[in-house]
Amino acid sequence: ISNQFYRDTWVDIDLDAIQHNVQKVKEQIRDGVSLMAVVKANAYGHGYIQVANAALEAGADHLAVAFLDEALFLRKAGITAPILVLGATRPEDVGLASRHQIQLTVYQDQWIEQAASYLNEAAPVLLHLKCDTGMGRLGIKSIKELQDIEQMIERYPSFEIYGVFTHFATADERSQRYADEQLVLFNNLIGHLKKKPKMIHASNSAATLLRQDALFTLVRFGISMYGLSPSDEIAPLIPKWLKPALSLHTRLVHVKRVKKGDKISYGSTYTAIVDEWIGTLPIGYADGWLRKLQGFEVLINGQRAPIVGRVCMDQCMIRLPKDYPLGMKVTLIGEQDGERILIDDVANYLETIHYEVACLIAARVPRVYW
Ligand code: PLP
Repeated sequence: ISNQFYRDTWVDIDLDAIQHNVQKVKEQIRDGVSLMAVVKANAYGHGYIQVANAALEAGADHLAVAFLDEALFLRKAGITAPILVLGATRPEDVGLASRHQIQLTVYQDQWIEQAASYLNEAAPVLLHLKCDTGMGRLGIKSIKELQDIEQMIERYPSFEIYGVFTHFATADERSQRYADEQLVLFNNLIGHLKKKPKMIHASNSAATLLRQDALFTLVRFGISMYGLSPSDEIAPLIPKWLKPALSLHTRLVHVKRVKKGDKISYGSTYTAIVDEWIGTLPIGYADGWLRKLQGFEVLINGQRAPIVGRVCMDQCMIRLPKDYPLGMKVTLIGEQDGERILIDDVANYLETIHYEVACLIAARVPRVYW
C-alpha cells in the first residue's frame, strides 16, 4: 500500500496507541479469555489492515467485521487470523467463506438449509449462533429456536457450531439493569445447548471494561481499542489508560484579508464583522467534515479558530486571529500545544456519537501510520 498522497489533509493513526489499548485490556480481563478486535467499517475509519495487524501483534487472537466483503479484504491482505462476520451473509456466498476460512453468524434455520445446498467443501464452516436477548436486531430469541437450529446444524457435516453470542443494547449506560436482564437470558439460552461451543461471547468494549460477569470465553473489543470511551455517560468509570489513536489535520492553502461586510462561502451566510483574516482549508463534507460543522472550531498555532460560512464539498474557511503563513498545520481532531479537540467534541456538536464521526471520515482522506 502506497503511503503517498498529494493533498494537505490527512488522518494520523497512532498504532502504538492501539497496541497499548489491546495490551492493557488483555491485562485486565482474566487469563484464557480471547480478545476479538472489531475492525469493521475500515476499523472504525482507522484502516482495516494496519489496525488488524497491530491488534493481532499486540495480543488479539480474533478479528470481527460486519460483512463478508470486509473479511475477504483482510484475507487478500494476507491476514490469516480467525475472522468472524458479525452481520448477515447470503447463503449463496457460504462457499466463498469456507474457502477463505471465514466464520459466519447464523440465526435462522432456513439459512442453514439454503447455505448447505451451496456447500460441498471438505472443511466445515465455523458458525456462531446469534441470540437476541434484547438488542432486537439479529438473533434467535427462544430456547426452542435455539434447539431446533442446533439440531439442524448437526445434520450437516459441513457446518460446525463454533460459537454462540449475544450483543448488549445498553452496556454503555450507567444503569446496567437492562444488560443484567440480557445476561440472564443469554445464560439461560446457552444452558439449553446440547454441546457448549468453544467460543461464548457477549461483551462489547463497555461490558469488557465494566463487567467481569460477561466475559465468557471471548470479548469483542471495538471502540475502546481505538482509545475511546464507549459513551460519555460511563466515561468516568472507564480506565484512564485508554489512548486515542486518531487525529485529523489539514493545512492552510489560502489566506486572505477580507473587508468588513465581505461574505464567505455558499449562501453568503457569514459576513465579516470587521476587517478579518480568513484561511481556506482543503477539507469538506465529502471528506466527512460535515456541513453542520459550520460554527465549530479547529486548532491553529495552539489556538481555537471558528469555521465561518458553509462547509463546501472539498473546502471550508476559518477566521484567523492574524495573518498566518500558507502551509500552516491546522488540527481538526487532536491536540496542539495543550489545546485539544476530541472526536467526542465533534460528535457533540453534530449531535451524534464518536463512532459515527470516525466512520464518516472518507476513504479519500489519506491515513498516515506511525
Ligand atoms: N459486537 C457487535 C455485534 C457489534 O455490532 C459491535 C459494534 O457495533 C461490537 C461488538 C463492538 O462494540 P464496541 O465498539 O462498542 O466495542
